Amino acid sequence: MASNSYIIVGAGVFGTSTALHLITKFPHSSVTLIDRDAPDAQTRVAASWDWNKVVRADYRDPLYCKLALEARDVWREDPLWSPFYHETGVYWISRTGFAKEVIDNYERLGRKTEGALYALPVEEARKRYGGIFEDADYTGVENVLVNTTSGWADAKGALRAVTERAVQLGVKFVKAEIDGLEFGTEGECVGARTKDGERYTATHTILSTGSFTPKLLEGVANSTGRDTFLAGGRIISAGVTTGLAQLDDETAKEYAQMPVCIQENPPERGADNGSLPLTEDKKLKWWGQCIFKNTQAMPSGRHISAPPAGADYSQWKIPEFLVEDVDLSNKAIFGKRGEVWKTTSHRVCWEALTPSKDFIISPHSASRGLYVATCGSFHGWKFFPAIGSYVVRMLEGTLEPDLIKRWAWDRELPDVSGNKVWPLKELREL
Ligand SMILES: Cc1cc2nc3c(=O)[nH]c(=O)nc-3n(C[C@H](O)[C@H](O)[C@H](O)COP(=O)(O)OP(=O)(O)OC[C@H]3O[C@@H](n4cnc5c(N)ncnc54)[C@H](O)[C@@H]3O)c2cc1C
Repeated sequence: MASNSYIIVGAGVFGTSTALHLITKFPHSSVTLIDRDAPDAQTRVAASWDWNKVVRADYRDPLYCKLALEARDVWREDPLWSPFYHETGVYWISRTGFAKEVIDNYERLGRKTEGALYALPVEEARKRYGGIFEDADYTGVENVLVNTTSGWADAKGALRAVTERAVQLGVKFVKAEIDGLEFGTEGECVGARTKDGERYTATHTILSTGSFTPKLLEGVANSTGRDTFLAGGRIISAGVTTGLAQLDDETAKEYAQMPVCIQENPPERGADNGSLPLTEDKKLKWWGQCIFKNTQAMPSGRHISAPPAGADYSQWKIPEFLVEDVDLSNKAIFGKRGEVWKTTSHRVCWEALTPSKDFIISPHSASRGLYVATCGSFHGWKFFPAIGSYVVRMLEGTLEPDLIKRWAWDRELPDVSGNKVWPLKELREL
């Protein structure tokens, strides 16, 4: 592997973690990380770029529970990661038997739950954390799950610091927009080409391009005349809205110890919404429950969902409906306490989603030398410290068989009717 060379397109958590793990394992290999945005840009289009993200191992699925605990241990203990991690706990307003399933998973994995993870009856839960969630919507809720061993991380801070570390270790960062892939005489992928026509070649080309992946592959299918490159039903680009409210100093003191709050919504209300603890400058953040797609006609005539065209994905241009969607999260979590807060700085964050919500970490079956490592499916950020090691194992051919199957490019696509984050609405309808 040391004589191999790697191009990683996309410096979100999947690409950056892969770059770090590759250069750590193979310090003499050539690793180039390419992104349309500089690591220190004021704002970026990456889903991974954000004020803060939830870091939790509260999963129904034992696989992601285990993986998230592995990542959480790094967040806690490793000096590269720990300055960005805040173990505030997570308060889950759940309308299903979630609490029990999570506790069972932790116990099966031999992790401590006593005093760390517990289910509280609603009346007792309302009084916790100084009563800040007393006015939340508890309709149909039996128990609230409190996991004191989960929390959140400063997303943009961690992303920038880890990119800097990867560069210090020898990764070459290139700010450029990739427009197409390069192929050898036998159809193998030998690199990528920028919009300005510059070519970068390598033995391995890894696409970690998040929500842009289906559009990039559509362009490749178009230019090569090979439909086998298309993402098809494997990936859909979807957006969700976030918003922040500035708290005054007095109110901020009251909320200083708040945990992350996640509200498991009834299906008719949409996906789960939530709120994150205060940023350094005392801003409270919410994400909404409306998840939408943006189907567009490509020059080829194909129709696919992709972020709006333009360098910033129009991520700051928010229809009124989506502003209200964030306000609905505020209301469902803080009730009348939140009525005085004005949400601002709304952003649409674009993500790559798969029907099963499993990642894709796999060779692309259309061309030797081409790999895909992305599709966080609205839950991928927390795995930042660990996910690259799985990508490296995939590249080496040492990934465990169950993970090969789960994360394969070619896998059975389940029915999406049970997937609460699957987008049904179109952005233009909102
Ligand atoms: C609003 C929101 C909240 C979320 N909250 C959480 C959370 O609390 N916890 C959690 O675990 N997960 C969360 N997620 C999910 C998580 O953010 C994503 O799963 C993860 O960040 C995806 O990482 P990525 O590297 O695949 O993609 P991205 O972070 O989107 O990175 C893709 C990168 O590719 C670059 N790129 C794309 N196309 C090109 C091109 N042609 N040329 C050059 N560069 C290109 C982009 O600039 C970008 O930097 C959330 C997602 C959203 C949208």
